[in-house]
This record gives sequence, C-alpha cells and structure tokens, in this order.
Amino acid sequence: MLDLKMYINGEWADAQSGKTREIVNPANGEVIARAAEGDAADARHAIEVAREAFDGGEWAELPAAQRARFLFAIADKLEERAEELARLETLDNGKPLRESRFDVADAAACFRYYAGLATKPDGQTYPVADPMQAMVVREPVGVCGLIVPWNYPLLMSVWKIAPALAAGNTIVFKPSEVTPVTAAKLFEIIEEVGIPKGVANMVMGAGPTVGNELAESHLVDKVSFTGGTVTGRSIMKAAAGNIKKISLELGGKSPNIVFADADFETAVDYALFAIFANQGQVCSAGSRLLLEESIHDRFVERLVERARTIRVGAGDNPATEMGPLVSQAHMEKVLRYIEIGKQEGARLVCGGSRLTENGLDKGYFVEPTIFVDTAPEMRIVREEIFGPVLAVQKFKDEAEAIKLANGTAYGLAGGVFTGDGAKALRVIKKLRAGITWINSYHPTYNEAPWGGYKQSGIGRGLGTFGYDEFTEVKQININLQVEPVGWFEN
Ligand code: NDP
Repeated sequence: MLDLKMYINGEWADAQSGKTREIVNPANGEVIARAAEGDAADARHAIEVAREAFDGGEWAELPAAQRARFLFAIADKLEERAEELARLETLDNGKPLRESRFDVADAAACFRYYAGLATKPDGQTYPVADPMQAMVVREPVGVCGLIVPWNYPLLMSVWKIAPALAAGNTIVFKPSEVTPVTAAKLFEIIEEVGIPKGVANMVMGAGPTVGNELAESHLVDKVSFTGGTVTGRSIMKAAAGNIKKISLELGGKSPNIVFADADFETAVDYALFAIFANQGQVCSAGSRLLLEESIHDRFVERLVERARTIRVGAGDNPATEMGPLVSQAHMEKVLRYIEIGKQEGARLVCGGSRLTENGLDKGYFVEPTIFVDTAPEMRIVREEIFGPVLAVQKFKDEAEAIKLANGTAYGLAGGVFTGDGAKALRVIKKLRAGITWINSYHPTYNEAPWGGYKQSGIGRGLGTFGYDEFTEVKQININLQVEPVGWFEN
C-alpha cells in the first residue's frame, strides 16, 4: 500500500485536516494507495509558499541554462524509473501497460524539449524611429496553478509542469483526486534533482476545494487547466477576481471523416484507434465517425468485426489491448450514455455493456461500443462521453461532411481520410478545430501546439505556443539620445 503525501516548500506533508483518500485500482477495485486529502487551507499554504519563492526571484533569475539542467535531470530520472512509473500508471489509471510505457517516455521527452527551449533565442526588436530602440522580452507569469485530469495522469502533469518551470515560474500543482500516484512520484524526482524549495509544490485533494482555491486566489497569476468543459467554465468564473491569465484545454466530440476514396483498411484501423485507444478517455478521441454513404455499410461491418476482437482486460496483462475505465463513477456515466443512445433511437451494432466475465467482475470494464443510424441532435452525437463509445454519422458529399463535422459546440480535433490530396486539405481548412490529421489520427508531438477552437478551450499547450502561455511579454523602449523631449515650451 502506497502512502502519498503532498509536497509543499520542499517537504512532504499530510493534509492539515489529517484526512486521507483511498486510491483504487480500476481493474479490480482494490485499494492501492492512501493519499493525503488536502483542502483549501492546504492550497492556500502552498500558494503562499510559491508566491514567496517567486517574489524572492531565485528561480526566475537563474540563468535559463541552469533551469534547463534541472529539467534534463528530471527527464533522465523519469527514464531510469520508467518501468516502475509505467506499472504504477497502469495500476492507478487502468490503461494497458504499453500505453503507460509510451506516456512515461513521452513525459521524459517533454521535459527535454522544454529544457532545450528555455535557452533558445527569444524576444523581438523593432525598427522604430530614431533615437528610440524598441524591443520585447518574455518573462515568467509568476505563480501558476496547474490542474490536471485523470486520463493521462503523468503526461498531462508534465505538459504543464515542464514549460511552467522552464519559463521561470513557481507552481502549485493539483493532480486528479482519483489518479495522484505517478504525479507524487514525479515530485519525488523533483526533490531528488534539487529544484529549490518552494518552486514546485503539489497539493492533492478535490477539485471544488483545492482546484477552486487555485483558480480563485489573488496570489496566483495564472491557472492552466485540462479537464471537462463544465469545470473549465467554473474555473473561468473563479479566475475573474484578479483577472488571472487562463489556459483551458477542455473536451471534444471530434469528427473522423472517411471518404469513399480512402484506403479502406487504413481508415478502419485508424477509426478503431481514434476511439478505443485509452478506452476512449482522450479529449481528442475520434468519437464521431463520419462515413460517406456509399461505403457506410461495408465500413461499419468491417469496423464491428474488428472491434469485437479487441482484447479487454487488466492493463498489466501483456495481452490486453483495452483496459478498464478510470473509476466506478465514470463507468456508470458511460453506461448511462449508452442507455441514452438507445432511448434516442440510435442503433447499437457493437458492445453496449459492462464486462464482468473472466475475472473482470470487480473492475470497471465496458465493451467497445458502436452506434449507427444517429442524428445530429442526439446527445450521444453532441456530448462528450469520454469512453469507448463511437457514434457513426452518414454523409452524402463534402459539404454535408463539413457541416456535420462542425455541428457541435466543441472544436478540439478532427481527421480526414481520402486518396484525394486537394480534397483532404479543403476539408481540413473548413474544420473549426485546433488539431487535425490527414490519413492519420492521434499522433501528438511535444513540438506542436495542442488545444481547441470553440468550447474546447482557450490557449494552447505544448510547443513554443505552450511555452508562451507561461510568459508575459514586456516591451522595453530605450532612448539612444538622452536629452529632453521638449513637448512643453516652459
Ligand atoms: P474534471 O474536469 O472535473 O476534472 C479535471 C480536474 O479538474 C481534476 O483535477 C479535478 O479535480 C479538477 N476540478 C474539478 N472541479 C474543479 C473546480 N470546481 N475547480 C477547479 N478544479 C476542479 O473532470 P471529471 O473527472 O469530473 O470528468 C468529467 C468529464 O470531463 C469527463 O467525463 C470528460 O467528459 C471530461 N474530461 C475531459 C478531459 C480532457 O482531457 N479534456 C479530461 C478529464 C475529463 P478532482 O478530480 O480531484 O476532483
């Protein structure tokens, strides 16, 4: 049984209230850890510490190359402990081990990317009228509240912690209450590499208490959040008090569009990957499959044939291709959506139930599920289910594909499969979405910006865009001829 404490001012701490929370393995319901259950008081303490550390200037004023050395060291340690971390991720989140291994490797690469970026040329100069010289430099925002979800517990943490620290900020980080394990291990590494006390703090606990305090506190300059749209909205409101800078990476209902001229087997393969990877608990999941009428039936038939062969089981079984959902509450939410789909009149052609056979009865397993004969106004077509549930939509031509694709409040991601290069780009350019793929789905790069249009969020993570989100821009105007301006006569 793991005992997880919070990390504040370079020390491991229990919650002030003494409360703890049981952390459960979603594959079998067993308690794997006991985590400190912080509340607003713990968050306030961590925020004060981070404020003092930032205002003290030690971290922000450290040469970028020295900050980078800490981040490179974290990457090395993540790799040294990769197998342990991957196993813990699977134990806590449920995802198959091969996915956890990929996440840990990606987390190390993300630290290296931002370690490198911290020392690269930055700023601009402007050719303004003599005798002035104008330039712009980037500076850290200050104290950053970082709030992450449970679907990629380690990776989502790193997507925020690495750029925030690289840019010279101090942080108060909050993992999801259901998946704090690997984030706590990451803070062990942060301690080990010697990041100065107070720079990086972690408070565990529930969103409405700890998360809300981070969003509300006037001592916090910026909040960066990934999670559901409803929570994102509440964070925006809470952040309004001190006009906090905000970055929100919210949900999606992303369209994966397949034209009749696409490579058939490639498109089928990616359609499965788009929705069933990580049990569909992916913000950018291709949860709507848009099929051109002429291939619809044949495509669905092949898709169902393959979906039925996906091996669902505990993530630590090497044969497993799809694991359990993250928690009982989330499984119940997904199953409710499946019932809603049936009641709305969509036709279930694959899955639709909880899996309890072959030792899965204590875990939160749901079959790969596919609905056809859907209509755009159905809730299973418009709302984010965040599980292994695919809604298939049928279209006649390019114009209808674009209209359906853009027909939700979200705008995170989208894919197009076709053999016609011009058509692919035409359609992509019309998609109101921030992340798109042609003849592919899902690849994500530390170098490229991640985020959405419409209600999928504000701002971008990753790449230089993600780094900029953790900086302020300062204009500096220098007079090269030091003499009075002479505006007033006397
Ligand atoms: P949430 O958006 O509630 O959780 C994400 C993070 O926000 C967690 O750390 C959570 O804390 C925290 N949080 C919750 N409420 C608040 C608040 N009022 N103020 C500040 N922080 C808060 O996601 P859920 O786990 O409830 O999932 C709900 C739905 O959101 C999912 O079904 C899915 O549709 C979507 N989602 C989207 C994700 C994405 O990547 N875009 C990721 C996760 C969910 P804690 O969990 O500790 O309470």
